[in-house]
Amino acid sequence: MYPMSIKERWQNWSGSVAFTPGEIEKPRDEEQVRQVVLRAKKEGKQIRVVGAGHSSVPLVVSDHIVMSLERLKGLVNHFPATNQVAMLPGTDIKEAGELLIQKDLSMHNTGDVDLQFIGGAFATGTHGSGRKLQNLSGMITGCRLIDGQGEIHEIDGSDLHQLNAAKVSLGALGIITQFTLQTVPAEKVVRQEFWARVDACMESLDGLIAGNRMFDFYWYPRNDLVKLRICNPIDDKVERPAYAVPAKEDQKGFLYQILPQERSLKFEEMEYLLPFEAGPACFQEIRKRVKEKHRHYVGWRILYRTIAADEVYLSPSFSRDSVSISVLQNVDLEYQSYFDDIEPIFRAHGGRPHWGKKHSLTAEEIRGLYPRWDDFMQLRREFDPDGIFLNDYLKQILDT
Ligand SMILES: Cc1cc2nc3c(=O)[nH]c(=O)nc-3n(C[C@H](O)[C@H](O)[C@H](O)COP(=O)(O)OP(=O)(O)OC[C@H]3O[C@@H](n4cnc5c(N)ncnc54)[C@H](O)[C@@H]3O)c2cc1C
Repeated sequence: MYPMSIKERWQNWSGSVAFTPGEIEKPRDEEQVRQVVLRAKKEGKQIRVVGAGHSSVPLVVSDHIVMSLERLKGLVNHFPATNQVAMLPGTDIKEAGELLIQKDLSMHNTGDVDLQFIGGAFATGTHGSGRKLQNLSGMITGCRLIDGQGEIHEIDGSDLHQLNAAKVSLGALGIITQFTLQTVPAEKVVRQEFWARVDACMESLDGLIAGNRMFDFYWYPRNDLVKLRICNPIDDKVERPAYAVPAKEDQKGFLYQILPQERSLKFEEMEYLLPFEAGPACFQEIRKRVKEKHRHYVGWRILYRTIAADEVYLSPSFSRDSVSISVLQNVDLEYQSYFDDIEPIFRAHGGRPHWGKKHSLTAEEIRGLYPRWDDFMQLRREFDPDGIFLNDYLKQILDT
């Protein structure tokens, strides 16, 4: 039977977004998703789909219908000849890793945690780090999407316009009920962590980025040291940087087992993606500002990562290899004035905000950052002419 609608208080991972939806729907299959869309259209209601609630901006807030796809999870097909799989959107990243390893397959990368649903992670351009590795939506070769009229679109590489719009789409084009994903053969990797002086890291940054499959670093404002995090296939011969000292024992295993971390301390985060070349200067400017102004109350580290360019219309790495820089603050401490002070530095270096994290931009300021913006907005109007997937926040950050 169709699930009963229930009223529940909803809040995101960090607790900074909380509301009571008018209704919560938890459909069991694609047809039930479609029926909710048809009902919403008939009743003039709005629907926001929610993943694992790890975004810290109000993407999913609605006092009409909030739909969780937590019951749509698992692997539904495997195509051994191409290493592609069909997977449901409510599968979380950890489950995806566990399902894929049974077929000797892997995602090409993960972010820092593995609790996000794949549907939610793709929708905001979630990424890990690696000079040649695109964000996670780079895996998508096709999807099934239900638009605002209740129509099902089977999108694949034969229509690159729709595919490049759908990969990172914030739930604004419609509800994705299935993905086809390009995976890679599973291989064991080794992850190493080292302490180093920040100057030594910055002097050898290009080599660190080019010489490792995955590389990122944390800078610690209090002691001005960096922690280098490096991950490579286990058989690669990678030299330890001479200036660095091991921070912990090497970890060996499959990517999904060792890359994601447990995060028990809750934080708020602002992250921007910058043109690759702008990364070092932007980081140094932020470091200087933090040391001068914020170090006495901000103990949280700053994270520096790299992401390969793609052609996805709303991907923050659209058409440019990118560096991402994240600033974090404990949820119990004041973060807004810190973020407000740092954000203009990101913007002066051509940054595009991470769609799932704190930022202050509106459509007017974001529009010029995305060359294929109008193409996305036109498709959005075609797929959802009545705006049933638009909440107040999306109306602020998109052209409607
Ligand atoms: C502790 C923590 C660690 C993080 N680490 C990283 C990291 O390493 N790298 C990084 O880039 N980001 C990171 N993030 C940000 C996070 O990955 C993104 O905010 C991501 O979108 C969250 O996924 P979710 O499943 O929680 O989706 P939600 O936050 O619940 O939703 C995100 C968006 O996806 C849409 N959506 C979800 N499912 C569908 C669907 N089936 N069809 C259409 N739209 C859909 C929603 O409508 C919403 O717009 C982190 C966040 C936290 C809290």
